[in-house]
Amino acid sequence: MQEGSDGTADVPTEEARVYEFDLVLPTTVDVREVGMRDGLQLEAPVPLEAKLEMLEALVATGVRRIEVTSFVSPKAVPALADAEQVAAELSRWGDVHWSALVANARGAVRAVDAGIGNLEYVVSASDGHSRANAGRSTAEAVAAIGEIAELAHGAGGSLEVIIATAWDCPFDGRTPIPRTVDVARAAVTAGADQLCLGDTIGTTTPGRVVQLLDAVYRACPGVPLGVHFHDTRGTGQANALAAVQAGVTQLDSSIGGLGGCPFAPGASGNIATEELVYMLEESGVHTGLDLDAVLAAARVTEQAVGHELPSSLYRAGGRSVPRAGQSSDTAG
Ligand code: ZN
Repeated sequence: MQEGSDGTADVPTEEARVYEFDLVLPTTVDVREVGMRDGLQLEAPVPLEAKLEMLEALVATGVRRIEVTSFVSPKAVPALADAEQVAAELSRWGDVHWSALVANARGAVRAVDAGIGNLEYVVSASDGHSRANAGRSTAEAVAAIGEIAELAHGAGGSLEVIIATAWDCPFDGRTPIPRTVDVARAAVTAGADQLCLGDTIGTTTPGRVVQLLDAVYRACPGVPLGVHFHDTRGTGQANALAAVQAGVTQLDSSIGGLGGCPFAPGASGNIATEELVYMLEESGVHTGLDLDAVLAAARVTEQAVGHELPSSLYRAGGRSVPRAGQSSDTAG
């Protein structure tokens, strides 16, 4: 640093400053909005018209990947019993990669028949959660991947296997890394095009995030890998940042932080889209989403579900600087 003529050190401008320490982050990430499925699945059913208003607002955020519904038993998930009706409306929005979750080959056939070929299939890495959630062991769930992959590919789509309880299970405790890695490897062998690691009960932390990512990257080189975090214990955004630093560019988030886990009643659910966008954009990572449009979509979502959303940023009203017209005496 140069000394100024008055003997004090010159303070470099922001642009000129070279930091000794800095975050190493990608320039761009790809966010998938999961509020329509993961967010709504445990809510009281939202009427189709209100769902379409949500979708309109979500598409306007700039997000280009939307998990739009699931093709599962309407008895098990009444909130998404209108999957076919929602799918029939999607052609009004171009340029969006729609995907739907399925629980078995029967659901995959329904999704494909409804015009959605990009499928997500959940395999729990732990037997306890697999049996509670899907009524079968991890091995049995893995055995169904091949048939679902064929259905997706036959429709010109793709299959993503979401590995639930990738870090921890509410029944079995910690999931050993080799167990999750085995599921990842088996999924790719059976035809999965993409993988996603899910922190189903929101317990993992940045160090463990990076350890598992490293193991899966080594086992499945070149396979696109996304992450799905829940903010149940306040570590969701930290986990997302750790994943992005470790090279992940595909992240799931839910508008308003909607969604939860039936095994963690009252806990906040998925990481909130507006918080993810805020954190990444303010750190120089391009998401393609407009924060004000995301907040507008959160307002539409709040109306649709009829209760307050868990997102801290939404409740804070947006950015850290007061919005135009907001006087400073409202602070405090
Ligand atoms: Zn989730």
